[in-house]
Order: sequence, then C-alpha cells, then structure tokens
Amino acid sequence: MSMEFALSLEREFDVVIGLETHVQMSTNTKLFCSCKVEFASSPNTNVCPVCLAHPGSLPVMNRKAVEYAVKTAIALNCKVHNLAIMARKNYFYPDLPKGYQISQYDRPLATDGWIKIKTQDDYKKVRIHRLHIEEDAGKTIHEGSYSYVDLNRAGTPLMEIVTEPDISSPEEARQYLEKLRLIMRYIGVSDADMEKGQLRCDVNISLKPKGTSQLGTKVELKNINSFRFIVKAIEYEIERQSKLLMKGEKIIQETRLFDHNTGKTYTMRTKEEAHDYRYFPDPDLLPIVIKEEIIEEIKKELPELPDRKVERYITDLGLPEYDATVLVSDRDLALFFEESLKFYPEAPKQTANWILNELLGKLNDRGIEINRSPVKPSQLAQLVRLVQEGTISGKIGKEVFDQIFETSKDPADIVEEKGLKQISDEEQIRQIVKVVLEKYPAEVQKYREGNSKLIGFFVGQIMKETKGKANPAVVNKILQEELR
Ligand code: ADP
Ligand code: MG
Ligand code: ZN
Repeated sequence: MSMEFALSLEREFDVVIGLETHVQMSTNTKLFCSCKVEFASSPNTNVCPVCLAHPGSLPVMNRKAVEYAVKTAIALNCKVHNLAIMARKNYFYPDLPKGYQISQYDRPLATDGWIKIKTQDDYKKVRIHRLHIEEDAGKTIHEGSYSYVDLNRAGTPLMEIVTEPDISSPEEARQYLEKLRLIMRYIGVSDADMEKGQLRCDVNISLKPKGTSQLGTKVELKNINSFRFIVKAIEYEIERQSKLLMKGEKIIQETRLFDHNTGKTYTMRTKEEAHDYRYFPDPDLLPIVIKEEIIEEIKKELPELPDRKVERYITDLGLPEYDATVLVSDRDLALFFEESLKFYPEAPKQTANWILNELLGKLNDRGIEINRSPVKPSQLAQLVRLVQEGTISGKIGKEVFDQIFETSKDPADIVEEKGLKQISDEEQIRQIVKVVLEKYPAEVQKYREGNSKLIGFFVGQIMKETKGKANPAVVNKILQEELR
C-alpha cells in the first residue's frame, strides 16, 4: 500500500474487524471417544467407531475438555453459563463422517468476556462475544486427481472464541491473537501452535465512513495459517474494499480465501451459497450442567495470568514496563525469572538485565529454548549476587557467565578455580598503582600538567596488570591519591 493511499484511507474509513478463532485443546483424548489426540501420526490410526460415525456408536463428553473450556472462559473474563447444550451443525463434506459436526448453538458455554490489548498509544478491551466447545473435522488431502481423507483429527476438541467487532487495525488483530495464544499457554489448555493448526483464525472485516456508527458489509477471510499472513490478508482486504467504496461500488458479503503466494484474497463463496446448517440439540448428549462451585474451584486453580504478572513485575519488583512485558511474553521465561529471584530476591532489575541481555541473546544464537538453558536459575542468581556484592566485576561477570553457559559449572566454583575474585584490598591495589606509575613517568608528568584524560590510560594499565580483577572504584580512589 502506498503511503499516500494509506493516508487517504486513514481520513476516509474506519476499519472494523471481528475474529473467530478455533483453539485445539491439549486433552489426551478426543471430545467424544477415547482416541488419542496426536499430531502427525499415520493417517487413520487414531480412530474408532465413534469418530468414524459407525451406526450404533454413541458419543460421551470428555470431562477434561469441559474443564479446559471453563478455565479458558474464566481467563477471558467471560460469564460461564450453568447450562450449555451441544447441537448438531449439519453439512456434507467427505472429512465429516457423521454428516454433522457437534458444536454449540444457542446455548454456548460462555459469553461476554474481554481481552486487553495494546493499541498504538493506549490499551483497549476487545470484547469476547462467545466461547463454545465443538469437535474438529478430519483432513482432506488433495494430490493430483486423488483426494485422501485422514480422520485422525475428526472429533478433536476445539474451542471457538468469537470477538465483537472491536478490532480496528491489522496490528490490533495481531495483538489480540498473540495475547490469546499467551493466555492459552499460561493456563495450559492448548499449545496454540499455529503451524500445527492448533490455532486457526477466520477474519471478518468491513469498512465504514470515518466516525459513523453503522457497520459496513463484512467479508470473511477463512483459515489463514500464520500471524504474518493474517496481517497481510487484512492489509490487502482494507485496500481492496476501500478502492471499491471510493469508486462508489458496494461490498459483496462473501467468504474469501487468502493466497499467500500472491498476497491477495479470492472469492470462495457468496452469501447466496451460504449453508443452512439446520442446527438442533444433539439428542445423544446430555446438557452440560456446570455448578457454581465447580466454576469457583477452577477459578482458584488458575495461575497468575499475563496482565496481572506484568503489573506485579512493575509495581512490586520495580521493573520497567518493557522488561516486564518481555519476561511475561513467554511463560517459561517468566518462570525462569521468578525461580532466579527465589535465590536472590534483592536484585530483580539486575536479574532481569542478565536474563534479557546475556542469557536470551546466547540462547537465541544457539537456538536453545529457555527451559533447556545450560545456565540454571540458581546459577544465574549466584552470578548476579557475586557481581552485586562486588566479589567480581561486571566485566568478569560476563566471562563467568560464558563459562557457566559452556560448562554448567557453578559461578562460585568458576571464580575460585580461575582466581577471578575482584581485588578490593586498598593496600594491594596501591602496590599495583605504584608499579604502573613508576613505569610511565612521562605520562604522570603530563597528567600533573593538566592532561586529566590520562586517568583512563592509567586505569587501563592497572586493569591489564590485574587481568580485569581490580575493583574500579577502589582503583580510581587510589590513583587520585597517588597522582596528587
Ligand atoms: P455470521 O452470522 O455471519 O457468522 P456473526 O454476527 O456471527 O456473523 O459474526 C461473526 C464475526 O464477525 C464476529 O467476530 C463479529 O464480531 C464479526 N462481525 C460482525 N459484523 C461485522 C462487520 N460488519 N464488520 C466486521 N466484523 C463483523
Ligand atoms: Mg459466525
Ligand atoms: Zn475415536
């Protein structure tokens, strides 16, 4: 999109986006049978009469899936309903053996929640319209003139999470999805890995004249499989729709597909071709009754959620917002940080610095995940303590850090073995200072004549002499005294 065009858009239209996200729950078994939920196993191995829809087989609700959905609903600030009803959504497709998908319709598990996201210069709440439970379909794979059906995924438990049309830009859509994914991972209901299809998103998007309240005709973009493509697809669609509107043409309500090779969206089906799913309550399944006590119990089990954690890091630990946000953006990273603090609670900011600057950098270079870090939280804490208490200098600290990273040895042992302890003893340093000053009489002369910059040179020589182990503050003090 050209800058000029983007600016003219900014003046003319409001962008309105609502997202429908499917999240695969990380239960061990499927929603209505005991088949395993497993990624990338050989086709049609995790199947049974229930998920193959053999006559006479009956579904039994997976209790864990309901628990996970309730957990999620609470984490998304939703109202959890005491009664939810499974309904049949009827349509024909080869990867749907029953000829209907079991979902929820007019009695969803939860409604009316929100997720807080960062906007350009503030925060806002994206309202959640509803959250319901449904089963996944199988997969159809097309190869040449053949199509293959794999039913391993058929009956896998999903949550569908639908927002109100509260999102106003591609960036906000991305913020929303990242936050949603983070919350799923914190509460452990899904790995929400887009590459594995565990998080799938349909984007509804429309434009309306700037500042007006009536929503425009929306277009639905189906199943885009990465955050980057979601942003691209929305950008393309904003451009396409605004061009039509500026020419005075109407937007057709339709479903479109995004092609990541061309970066464009294409018509998949128009409203006229839309299905009538003929929803009705599934007579094979009992209504889901969720007692208030159970909701309370699940609420108590929830871990500290990302927003709360960021807040606590800022107000209780005194971290800058940036540090807090980066640490919390990965659950394992936050746990590493908190574990480190247990061993040395006095220096949260310095601990955060070492993790964010040294540890993450090195882990990224080597492609190692935080929970496989060769530096353990206790070791990082020891290191920070050694530096903070002046046992070693910050510079030596980095060397020690590298050593821990390579050998997994404890920092105290490394310092001992290599004799890296900082020299703070004044008399010992005075001896070294004297030796250095005797070695450079000309420089001493110049310093005394007013070239005060030479102090850096002397400090450098002393550090060289002590292999970086001299305490800089003490060196400075003694140097001043001896040069006077
Ligand atoms: P449908 O009945 O076509 O599925 P819904 O009312 O269920 O439509 O809404 C589906 C999604 O589309 C929701 O996320 C909703 O917020 C969003 N949505 C609804 N109307 C619009 C609109 N005019 N522009 C953008 N998004 C919209
Ligand atoms: Mg819908
Ligand atoms: Zn099965």
